[in-house]
Amino acid sequence: MVLGAHVSSAGGVSLSPARGVELGCEAIQIFAKNQRQWKGNPIPDAEAQAFRENYARSKLRGAMVHDTYLINVGSPEPAMWTQSRDALVDEARRCAQLGIPLLNMHPGAHMGKGLAPALERIAKAIREALDATQGSPVQIVLESMAGQGTTIGARFEDLRAIREHCGNDPRVGYCLDTCHLHAAGFDIATSAGWKDTMKQAEEQLGIGRIKAFHLNDSKTPQGSHVDRHASIGQGSIGAKGFAPLLSDKRFADRPMILETPLGEEGYPKDLAVLRRVLKDASK
Ligand SMILES: [Zn+2]
Ligand SMILES: [Zn+2]
Repeated sequence: MVLGAHVSSAGGVSLSPARGVELGCEAIQIFAKNQRQWKGNPIPDAEAQAFRENYARSKLRGAMVHDTYLINVGSPEPAMWTQSRDALVDEARRCAQLGIPLLNMHPGAHMGKGLAPALERIAKAIREALDATQGSPVQIVLESMAGQGTTIGARFEDLRAIREHCGNDPRVGYCLDTCHLHAAGFDIATSAGWKDTMKQAEEQLGIGRIKAFHLNDSKTPQGSHVDRHASIGQGSIGAKGFAPLLSDKRFADRPMILETPLGEEGYPKDLAVLRRVLKDASK
């Protein structure tokens, strides 16, 4: 398994591979700009080159960018949609510049104005981001969500529909978040539940199109639709609840990224817990 975490890009993205290695990661996720601002400073070419070199030297086995939290390409408001689309295109360009093959995005929220048109708006923005980075290896992965409020992405059907609206483009895939799956109502913590969830994922999404995972425990119970991450083993999934995923060999080469509440303070312990669960499960 390729276990990693979301690491800071403070001081420049080029520093993030070493930070990940220091924490015990085999893969990293980063923000390619300030995640709470619409406009980020461009990444200087020398900085992008330094990232590529440091990443190559690090022996990390996966890298992914998480998009800005402000983006909502499901928005029914034209001004908000356009601003979000521009930001998503910018994120994809940053991935291409850094040589990072995966851009994880939150599908968006329909704000009470109807799901079906929102799914089309999301797909339109994705197509534009793919067009803007044509010829690059950048893939956009739709994150599975808890389904809080009008947030889209708690149901596999909706994630699939967005990809279909993108003409089933091979550069569109999925990232499953364990906390979000659990909060969305899926049973992922038992082997029977995991099997059933993956059967649905196979039918709706395709196992091969699941490109990455976010590994988070959940402060809220299964089916709560409330998105609150917990440290591994400190939530309602529980440490052993990660065993079915960690021992699923189909995902052996997929980056599995922690986004737990203690951040870099907590990752070494979370990684140790996951590695112990993996070891016990493979006995
Ligand atoms: Zn996310
Ligand atoms: Zn979350």
